[in-house]
Amino acid sequence: MRLDGIHHVTCITADAPGNVDFYTRILGLRLVKKTVNQDDPTVYHLFYADEDGSPGGDITFFEYPGIPRGRAGDGMIHTVEWRVGSAESLDFWERRLTDEGVAVERGDGDVVFEDPEGLRHRLVVTAAEDEPLMAEHPEIPAEHALQGFDAVRAYTRAPEVSRPVLQEILGFTAAGDGVWEARGDTRGGVYAYDESPEERGLGGAGTVHHVAWSSTMEEHGAWHARVAAAGLRPSPIIDRFWFRSIYFREPSGVLFEIATLGPGFGIDEDPEHLGEKLILPPAFEHIRAQIEPVLTPLPDPRAAARS
Ligand code: ZN
Repeated sequence: MRLDGIHHVTCITADAPGNVDFYTRILGLRLVKKTVNQDDPTVYHLFYADEDGSPGGDITFFEYPGIPRGRAGDGMIHTVEWRVGSAESLDFWERRLTDEGVAVERGDGDVVFEDPEGLRHRLVVTAAEDEPLMAEHPEIPAEHALQGFDAVRAYTRAPEVSRPVLQEILGFTAAGDGVWEARGDTRGGVYAYDESPEERGLGGAGTVHHVAWSSTMEEHGAWHARVAAAGLRPSPIIDRFWFRSIYFREPSGVLFEIATLGPGFGIDEDPEHLGEKLILPPAFEHIRAQIEPVLTPLPDPRAAARS
């Protein structure tokens, strides 16, 4: 059994409208699902991805209006890395982000920036031959579009403590000092550690909540059994409608999820119109009239781009 790279990365925002603006208008991702937190239906859960809503390029946000800024610390993911096509793409993003007033650090082979709430992103030229996962955007030429995740980077004081779980239980391959790759039949994704800062981490706006790794539907039950047998105390298998999930903490403290590659975001919406209307899990549909007025109104980013 092999995990097929990163499935999605879930983060926290205090400002859903600003979040939609940054990830759709500026970064050019497609809002592929506008729904609510299945554990708290008074707040949004927003999913941005490529045109098809594919696992591998799907960044999602829980909205907690008014929650203070957090900061990444020990046992937390601090940076999300995305693939782009070429050095010219890095030039494009350096220019585009700078024009939008986003502070950019341009390195030799990367572009580093933060979203409006301090969540750090890094763009790197891909060496992977995986299918590029791109969304369409009128101002972003296809050759420069984001192509999906390359890696997530986390803070730890002791990467060796996690090694047995990453390698022997999850089947990651060591790829350097504190660096591992999860590579399956169709994609790969990297998990890397950096030395923790002195300051304690704090969950909040602009932090990563968890990273999910991809499993086939057929192998998902076996992954649950394997993680449980290793003493990692996973959650039960939870049906998230667009995929199934199990959650557990790896020894460094980072919350991991293993999510299935299907059935996908088209299961309850026309693929042509993903993300345009509020989708409620079936258990909440009967209280739609109470939920909708509580949520911050959001623009339809595609309609805004066309007008
Ligand atoms: Zn998740």
